[in-house]
Amino acid sequence: METMSENPTIRRAIAESLLGIALDADGFAPCPGRQFHNGATGRRDFRVILEGPPTGTCFHTSCGALVDEFNAKLRSLIGKAEAPGGTGAPPRPPMLGGSVPPMPEAPRLPKRPPYDSAKLADFAARCPYPITPEWLAARSPVAIPAKQDIATAELFLTSIYQPGERVLVFTREFSQGDFLWNAGGGGYRLGDRPGVKAVRSPLPAGGPLGVWFLAQPVSAKWEVNTNNRAPDGSPKMGRRHGACVTAWRFLVLESDEAPAAAWLRALVMLPLPIVAAYTSGGRSIHALARVDASSKETWDFLRDDLVPILCPLGADPAAMTAVRLTRLPGTLRHGSRGKDGKVNAYPSPRLQRLLYLNPQATACPILDLHP
Ligand SMILES: [Zn+2]
Repeated sequence: METMSENPTIRRAIAESLLGIALDADGFAPCPGRQFHNGATGRRDFRVILEGPPTGTCFHTSCGALVDEFNAKLRSLIGKAEAPGGTGAPPRPPMLGGSVPPMPEAPRLPKRPPYDSAKLADFAARCPYPITPEWLAARSPVAIPAKQDIATAELFLTSIYQPGERVLVFTREFSQGDFLWNAGGGGYRLGDRPGVKAVRSPLPAGGPLGVWFLAQPVSAKWEVNTNNRAPDGSPKMGRRHGACVTAWRFLVLESDEAPAAAWLRALVMLPLPIVAAYTSGGRSIHALARVDASSKETWDFLRDDLVPILCPLGADPAAMTAVRLTRLPGTLRHGSRGKDGKVNAYPSPRLQRLLYLNPQATACPILDLHP
């Protein structure tokens, strides 16, 4: 019986045709989601490993949805091409020159409709009065502390997770988790590699760029990540990928594009179980909606249903991925990353402010709870 075998030439040609450019000698190429990068895009952010399950990975996380999409297409096309009597290799694109090529005119986002300011304005106008952070805080089912600090972060985490659930907390966005919160059990500082013991610790009060948490609870154990490979092709260990997730509970709604006033009006009218709203420490307001999916696949289906509704209203499609970091309210953000990739400190730290907390939220819009 003929079996499928890896054909490096075909694999490379398919990856390059999807990217529209040749991979360099080490497998690096411009990231397919680079328009979503928050920090500066570098020459060696995105890399494709063709051996084993073919996988592209990016240094940035904000492009995750597009990198996932690239990987799904890559694997599907390679599967077809390598099957007996398969489709073979597509023609090769031009070699990568001295600079990153310009973005294509129309990015490949068929299922991700763009932000539509007219649609948001139209929807927001149905809200009978302005919604401010103060309006939200005054109506929060769990009282919002006037003076917020790390106790607020702990209140927040304990309120939205079940006793015994574990939540990864990050002061470095690209780490494998710097701290752990055990709901009902307190905080730990985590070792940065397998075998290093966690030690009891308060959660961090702030970070150079802020503090994040992984929205889904996790095992907090190092697990093999088959989607992330070392240069020799061996899978890496990680603590923040799909195999570590213990419940597919939340969807993160971020909006960087929409005006805050209109976005807030839209948020309170959405028929979604919004358990929390909080700021980025900047002008953005994020929300956490409970979805309680039974699996990653179910989570993805729910997301796919919500994207056409929420993205025209300003929700960032790049944030709508299942394994997602989001800002931890009640902590301090000391700076932001400039276009050059360097950290610029704020004159004074900014609070990632908790605005609303409703652990028992239902799909009833917030506005209807407070007519
Ligand atoms: Zn990227």
